[in-house]
Amino acid sequence: MWLWLAISFVQTFVVIPLIIRRWGKGAYCGWICSCGGMAETLGDAHRHKMPHGPVWNRVNMIGQGFLAVCLFLLVTRMISWGFPDSFVGSAYTAVLKGIPVFNYTWFIDLLFAGIIGFGLYFHFSGRVWCRFACPLAALMHIYARFSRFGIVAEKKKCISCNVCTSVCHQGIDIMNFANKGLPMQDPECVRCSACVQSCPTGVLTFGRVNSNGDVLGLDRLQASPVQMAELTVKGKSVA
Ligand code: SF4
Ligand code: SF4
Ligand code: SF4
Repeated sequence: MWLWLAISFVQTFVVIPLIIRRWGKGAYCGWICSCGGMAETLGDAHRHKMPHGPVWNRVNMIGQGFLAVCLFLLVTRMISWGFPDSFVGSAYTAVLKGIPVFNYTWFIDLLFAGIIGFGLYFHFSGRVWCRFACPLAALMHIYARFSRFGIVAEKKKCISCNVCTSVCHQGIDIMNFANKGLPMQDPECVRCSACVQSCPTGVLTFGRVNSNGDVLGLDRLQASPVQMAELTVKGKSVA
């Protein structure tokens, strides 16, 4: 138990903040998390169904509530391990194990993973859980305040076609940044590349940005087919 707690602690409070600092939340959500992998495969065909707009952006805060619940459960769980005969230990056992609706199979497997996690893919896109409810994402949004990750836009190439925004399954209005030439640093971004890849004029590039919005550098690995073609024409390497 203590070993797993130590591993979890190092992963959650050391490894993840470090990778977010350099690559953004998408380094975990796009490259590591198996739920994200499922969202990008089974849910990918539904990415355009994610709702956009300020009202839906306020719903993003549900994840903070789940994070608070998870922290509460973690603390009570640890107390119940260390002091099983205490009031908290006994109450934890009675509530979470004694009442069927709170057991793992019903609550996590069926409700969260089954109905919210997969079932809503077909109505709100594959990232519905990631955007609105994931407690780890809510924690990573705090770390993302210190991230240098950004999607950099070359304003003069933007034709305001809205393709980038329409393919974003995290509900981010990328066009609103791109046609102003501003870097996009929304912590909701899971670095799926869809906006960069779909832009018909090659406006967008993954990169690093400081807290003033100044561009520190661009990723060498191209995600934009338009930029790849431009580099190929110029006879430069695209990797
Ligand atoms: S938001 Fe949560 S569930 Fe989704 S990919 Fe990230 S860590 Fe995984
Ligand atoms: S479409 Fe673009 S902004 Fe949206 S999650 Fe993917 S990489 Fe991030
Ligand atoms: S897809 Fe490209 S050209 Fe179209 S609005 Fe987005 S950044 Fe501009």
